[in-house]
Amino acid sequence: MTAVQTDILVVGGGLVGLSTAMHLKQMQPRLSITLIEKDGVAAAQQSGHNSGVLHAGIYYEPGSLKARFCVEGNRALSNLCERFDIPIVRCGKVIVANTDKEKDRLERLHDRGVDNGVPGLRMISSRELREIEPHVEGSKALFAPESAIIDFKKVACAYAEIFRNAGGNLHFNTEFVSACLENGRHRVVTNQGEFGARLIISCAGLHADVVAGRTGNRTELRVIPFRGEYLQLRKDRRNLVNGLVYPVPDPDLPFLGVHFTPRIDGSVEAGPSAILATKREGYSYRDFSLKDVASTLSFPGFWLLVARNLGPGIAEINQALRKSVFLKGLQRLIPELQEDDLEPGGSGVRAMAVDRKGRMVDDFHIEETPGAIHVLNAPSPAATSSLMIGKYIAGKADLRINSG
Ligand SMILES: Cc1cc2nc3c(=O)[nH]c(=O)nc-3n(C[C@H](O)[C@H](O)[C@H](O)COP(=O)(O)OP(=O)(O)OC[C@H]3O[C@@H](n4cnc5c(N)ncnc54)[C@H](O)[C@@H]3O)c2cc1C
Repeated sequence: MTAVQTDILVVGGGLVGLSTAMHLKQMQPRLSITLIEKDGVAAAQQSGHNSGVLHAGIYYEPGSLKARFCVEGNRALSNLCERFDIPIVRCGKVIVANTDKEKDRLERLHDRGVDNGVPGLRMISSRELREIEPHVEGSKALFAPESAIIDFKKVACAYAEIFRNAGGNLHFNTEFVSACLENGRHRVVTNQGEFGARLIISCAGLHADVVAGRTGNRTELRVIPFRGEYLQLRKDRRNLVNGLVYPVPDPDLPFLGVHFTPRIDGSVEAGPSAILATKREGYSYRDFSLKDVASTLSFPGFWLLVARNLGPGIAEINQALRKSVFLKGLQRLIPELQEDDLEPGGSGVRAMAVDRKGRMVDDFHIEETPGAIHVLNAPSPAATSSLMIGKYIAGKADLRINSG
């Protein structure tokens, strides 16, 4: 069978891959751009299993890619959604402090958000908090009116539609297996036959390190999957929140703490927990892959990560296994919440890139090798930032293609 020839092959039909392919086709209409996705639909992994929050850009280190792309991404995605009739509910977000330590951290978060250019961000008193969220208890809060909720699957479908309408080739059920570079062109093997490509762009999310390795990139990073499980508020208790309600995050931990997230379908999620997943795409605790577990356990960085985060790690496991502990975290925000107000909810798996020294990579991370660009870390807020990340990677690819 002869190989299908294309100029650029994008691997991965999540928000990052689709946005990259879409921007590339807009920048280089004459080039042939092909995107392959192993699943039968777009956004079946992280992009379709997330909290659905259009973040405002508060938390991120000023000057980082996350900070730049989140604030701009929120604005740019809002414009795109208007064009495509994708609903956005601008419900706003409160980050709630109770202790003196939390109030200090909240002040620092406020300054950081202002540095990042988050529009409308302001500190509010406990009285104003009560007006916005009557059931939430806090002595001080940070209010971000630009935080919103959205259905990111619809966003992914819009990217796919724009890409296809511009002449891009989209192949579902097509899994990247391997690639080798011969005379400046890749010979790419997939489960559906071969492709020839000048440039590969890997946006493979939970499999980013595997695809990078099979494209000749000896990256130092390993993707460790962390499952987040949610509970949800019983239907008649959804009125406990009006918008997004978050605690002040612990700066030593990579996650934001258990919080309340209204969803665009009217439900309200509470959580998530964060525990090591025993499969890269393991959405239930029953999912297990020997290969994926071996990939995690054989990586020295994983053990250093465990040693460094033993205390919080045990607390997370405790919280994930015991509803009463989970409830306690949520009651810090809404004291009147009771155990029977909560029902089981969904789950998601986060791809977390870790280096050999056991450090979690914080910012978006992209590596370049001959003939390839690899997105190795695109955690939250990558969905919010997807238009900007895609534009950025497409710009890099454009330079590479133009320079030979
Ligand atoms: C629980 C959770 C909550 C989150 N909440 C938010 C939020 O509220 N707001 C926000 O901005 N961000 C959020 N995020 C982050 C955001 O969802 C992700 O960062 C973003 O979706 C990453 O997109 P991606 O395209 O890089 O990865 P993915 O969506 O995982 O896409 C990667 C794609 O590559 C495909 N693939 C992998 N290997 C191959 C192969 N060999 N061949 C072909 N295809 C392959 C996969 O099937 C997949 O479709 C959350 C993430 C999680 C997990």
